Amino acid sequence: MVVGDISTGTDLLVVGAGPGGYVAAIRAAQQGIDTTLVEKDAYGGTCLNEGCIPSKAYITAADRAHTAGESEEMGIHADPAVDMARLKGWKDEVVGQLTGGVEKLCKANGVNLVEGRAEFASENKVRVAHQGEGQGSESLEFEHAIIATGSRPTAVPFDFDGEHVISSTGALAMDEVPDRMLVVGAGYIGMELSTTFAKLGADVTVVEMLDSALPAYEDDISRVVRKRAEELGVEFRFGEAADAWTETPTGLRVTTVDEDENQTEFAADVVLQAVGREPVTDTMNLEALGIETDDNGFIPTDDQCRTAVDHVFAIGDVAGEPMLAHKASKEGEVAADVVAGEPAGLDYQAMPAAVFTDPEVATVGMTADEATEAGFEPVVGKMPMNASGRALTLNEPEGFVRVVADGESEFVLGAQIVAPEASELIAEFALAIEMGARLEDVASTVHTHPTLAEASMEAVMNARGEAIHTLNR
Ligand code: FAD
Repeated sequence: MVVGDISTGTDLLVVGAGPGGYVAAIRAAQQGIDTTLVEKDAYGGTCLNEGCIPSKAYITAADRAHTAGESEEMGIHADPAVDMARLKGWKDEVVGQLTGGVEKLCKANGVNLVEGRAEFASENKVRVAHQGEGQGSESLEFEHAIIATGSRPTAVPFDFDGEHVISSTGALAMDEVPDRMLVVGAGYIGMELSTTFAKLGADVTVVEMLDSALPAYEDDISRVVRKRAEELGVEFRFGEAADAWTETPTGLRVTTVDEDENQTEFAADVVLQAVGREPVTDTMNLEALGIETDDNGFIPTDDQCRTAVDHVFAIGDVAGEPMLAHKASKEGEVAADVVAGEPAGLDYQAMPAAVFTDPEVATVGMTADEATEAGFEPVVGKMPMNASGRALTLNEPEGFVRVVADGESEFVLGAQIVAPEASELIAEFALAIEMGARLEDVASTVHTHPTLAEASMEAVMNARGEAIHTLNR
């Protein structure tokens, strides 16, 4: 136990109740560690309140509205109207159910909850300022700390004003669908939201400095997502950077500039700036702990999430890429287990990532190029979704499943999927990598018919030259 007053001491302090922090706190409490979780805003962090969950709620609603209105060829005649206030209300209900669940789970597992902003006072002491005027503050001593303070939208090139220039947080709280939305950045958040708002009826233009949508992904994946977005009416301006905006009597005028300094002007009602997120490491006096951040503001950690200061751990978005909720949670489990004295460690080999565009994108492990660079002689198998019975019955035949394996041993090394439900399909390949499965293991697993998952089996069979429903190469 901590030396000193027991009412102001804890064995483990966790700062931030996002998917990193609350998972770490619950796991630590389950391990019998006296754990205190400090949160300044809302349980569930970015993920539950303004990230994964609200965005997926909007994506689902936008899909329904769009699909209903676009199903003439199936004999369905509908003209759906979007009630944004009701949609927002439903999203808030979903969020409330989940955040309330997090709070209950923490309490049920014996986590001490403290509401307020944490700021370190020394290597073993934190001051928590309770929110609201006259609410005061308290000090807590701790033996171990896990920092899970997450990230915030990057205010580049424009400052956010919450009205004209908004972040994803603002976009997920709008009362009305804007007529004209200009999206800065075609990364995963920009692409998810531009597709969503196009389906909800906005006129969307995406400005991206690089030359493709989802530039972090392979070209053949980006192309599928871009083509579909264009079909939905999204206009892309690649190779251009948003440079300035002004308010006019008829809305906003946004200027972009290309590498030859050519300027273009756009009219918009709102600018959604989605150029990335930066770690929240500058507001809690890390100096008092003796921790330094790297050039990008992240807290350097080892494969047990330990910082340069032995008794302090950092997890989730503050600890670096990939900034994803499940990565934060996994690190939370590992850090808590390490504090409990377990021999836990991280392995990112089977860490999946998903983008909830139309169609969805999901990847895990290595691409073929990465496998080659790593010294493998990879074999690749592919199944186009237009050969999948289930994809055709969903009327969503775009995309493919691709698997990468070591040519000699046939160990599965990676998969890239652009397809409906890719975010679900990728789990099979994550499991395959985690278990050290070979192509044959997946190929000989009977998959339910007719499902999208059959496409994964077919891609694997294709890699072995045994595909039945596509031509083997
Ligand atoms: P956070 O969730 O950011 O939580 C940090 C918490 O710390 C916050 O609650 C904050 O209030 C609190 N805090 C900060 N400073 C202090 C302090 N000094 N004292 C007390 N509390 C403090 N990821 C996915 O995996 N899948 C998705 O589909 C996905 N979609 C997303 C969509 C959007 C629009 C956005 C913005 C993000 C999305 N993400 C997604 C990313 C995901 O939300 C983050 O990776 C994840 O929330 C990181 O978890 P975390 O615990 O590290 O931090």
